[in-house]
Amino acid sequence: MLDVLRHVHLHPETTRAELARDLGLSRGSATEIVARLRALGLVEETAAEPTGARGRPTRAVRRHDRGPVVAAVDVSYETWRLAVAHLGGELEEPRRERHRGQRPEEVLARISEALHETRAAFGTRLRALGVSVTGTVSGGRLVESATLGWRDVDVAARLRIAPLPVVIGNDATMAGVAEARRGAATGADVALHIAIEVGIGGVVLDHGRATVGSTGAGGEFGHLPFGDPDRPCPCGARGCWDLEVDGRALARILGDPPPAAPRSTADAVLRRAGAGDPAARAAVDRVAQNLGRGIGGLVNALDPRIVTLSGLAAAVFDLAGDSVRAAYRSGLMRFRRHDPPPLIRAAFPQDGSLRGAAELAFDTVLSEAGLDSWRADARPAPETA
Ligand SMILES: [Zn+2]
Repeated sequence: MLDVLRHVHLHPETTRAELARDLGLSRGSATEIVARLRALGLVEETAAEPTGARGRPTRAVRRHDRGPVVAAVDVSYETWRLAVAHLGGELEEPRRERHRGQRPEEVLARISEALHETRAAFGTRLRALGVSVTGTVSGGRLVESATLGWRDVDVAARLRIAPLPVVIGNDATMAGVAEARRGAATGADVALHIAIEVGIGGVVLDHGRATVGSTGAGGEFGHLPFGDPDRPCPCGARGCWDLEVDGRALARILGDPPPAAPRSTADAVLRRAGAGDPAARAAVDRVAQNLGRGIGGLVNALDPRIVTLSGLAAAVFDLAGDSVRAAYRSGLMRFRRHDPPPLIRAAFPQDGSLRGAAELAFDTVLSEAGLDSWRADARPAPETA
């Protein structure tokens, strides 16, 4: 049942015949399992689009209209978003609020309020919560976010609605999960996702699973020593790659003071470079080289099939792709150069972190324990959603 349900989640427009074929089930078993999932209010069947093939018409297996949902939260630099996601990955239009200048307790109290409203609207259909934050997450806590100015905040504890499971992760990790499962890296066995906003975030995905280390804080590629060893990083280390690839690097190369809002600064420099300003263009090329060289090193170390780029990394790649690619290739070990993993734009530049948070929340729903608890709640109580 779980395999079938997971398949419907990943392939929202499947049919009973495809389920049987893809999962190696007999048609009889597929029919029986789908019937059990229907009885549990997890999936429903509708007339499939005619394929033109002969034979008995097959039926499309889709998520049930009143099936399980999860809530996905994304806390970024200036705003937070909350979206409800359905089986199959469909995301409802997120609610969004600005939070700049508020203390963490205030921000999380507002989000918690919104989550309780979601819970009231969806009742027991709401099964889990996925939270994406911009910052380093370890052991379920946000240990450090220079971007937000938050330190050591137990985000999961403040947002938890018992008994719903909560999963929390770094925004680049979540976005990488979305790319690997439904985006630009779909089908890649091992993928590397690189996102730049202020500093670099990233993650290695192994068959759609984020490899984030023993405490969840892995993927801090921006703090590899690919930079100037004399330059101190706000993280406490020296020579971090972070300082060579974002708005801080562009400002420094241009001889400008350290920017208060590095991402906006970077966007402004990119616009000037795009318009033909030679100094801005040269600065972007330098940053593009720093980015490409570092990715080459990561590819040597991690051996991904594909590299997806998001945020400022994608913007730099668009404007100075030749510089990124040349530095990337020159940083690769010789044996890799004849067929290097492609660098590709992310498919979900805007809502990847929300989508990934929803995916990880659904992992808890599409598990033995998740299915048992759905069964125990029998059918969703009559609710207003
Ligand atoms: Zn650092």
